[in-house]
Amino acid sequence: MINMVFLGPPGAGKGTQSAYIIEDYGLVQISTGDILRAAVKAGTELGKEAKVYMDGGQLVPDELIVGMMKERLKQDDCKNGVIFDGFPRTIAQAEALDKMLNEDLKTEVTHIISLDVADELLVERAVGRRSCPECGKVYHIKYNPPKTGGVCDADGATLIHRDDDQEDTIKNRLKVYHETTSLLKGYYNESGKFHEIDGEGDPKDVYKKIKGILG
Ligand code: ADP
Ligand code: ADP
Repeated sequence: MINMVFLGPPGAGKGTQSAYIIEDYGLVQISTGDILRAAVKAGTELGKEAKVYMDGGQLVPDELIVGMMKERLKQDDCKNGVIFDGFPRTIAQAEALDKMLNEDLKTEVTHIISLDVADELLVERAVGRRSCPECGKVYHIKYNPPKTGGVCDADGATLIHRDDDQEDTIKNRLKVYHETTSLLKGYYNESGKFHEIDGEGDPKDVYKKIKGILG
């Protein structure tokens, strides 16, 4: 049973690598960013509250995120193992996750993998990121372009550029990552389950290192 926390700055490749992991290991990916973007699109209360923070590249308050995750973890598909992508992002969220897994699901975090990528590369990756609004597949205009300009290979939907993938907002998100989320490395370091890997190479080479850890 694998319950993996994926750490790493915006644009490090967490979503890209999660797609490979899901295929090989049959885990479910829970991306807080994807859930929040769906809530914004649907115009729910959560979406309305979260949008201001997301647009500014700030973190959405812990209470909203933890409440949302508690609901998500009630669903049956989590029982076979989860990749937590983009969560936790604060120590309070990490503590809440440990508690939810231990008390509600009688399980625990088994692996923490942190992807390391230099800030200059991250800005380029996020500015060039495009994603499919239908299936969520992630592309890059230079590093992983779709076969036909601007549309998803899988379903032909027109690809979108996220509102928060503009250079200024990305720089703010990186600042927030370094000031807050990177502190989680200290939280998890003692556990013996923490692995830091270089995320700068070819995606397939990065994935080989992840497989080496997950076994
Ligand atoms: P990326 O994949 O580029 O790191 P995400 O899709 O994970 O970005 O997150 C987009 C935005 O959603 C963040 O900038 C933040 O505003 C919000 N968000 C996502 N996950 C969390 C979280 N766990 N805690 C607080 N805010 C979050
Ligand atoms: P995250 O989920 O960590 O924010 P993504 O997986 O969405 O990151 O990747 C951000 C962008 O960088 C996407 O456009 C993706 O296609 C591209 N990308 C991901 N991994 C690599 C890599 N190893 N080399 C080059 N580009 C990459």
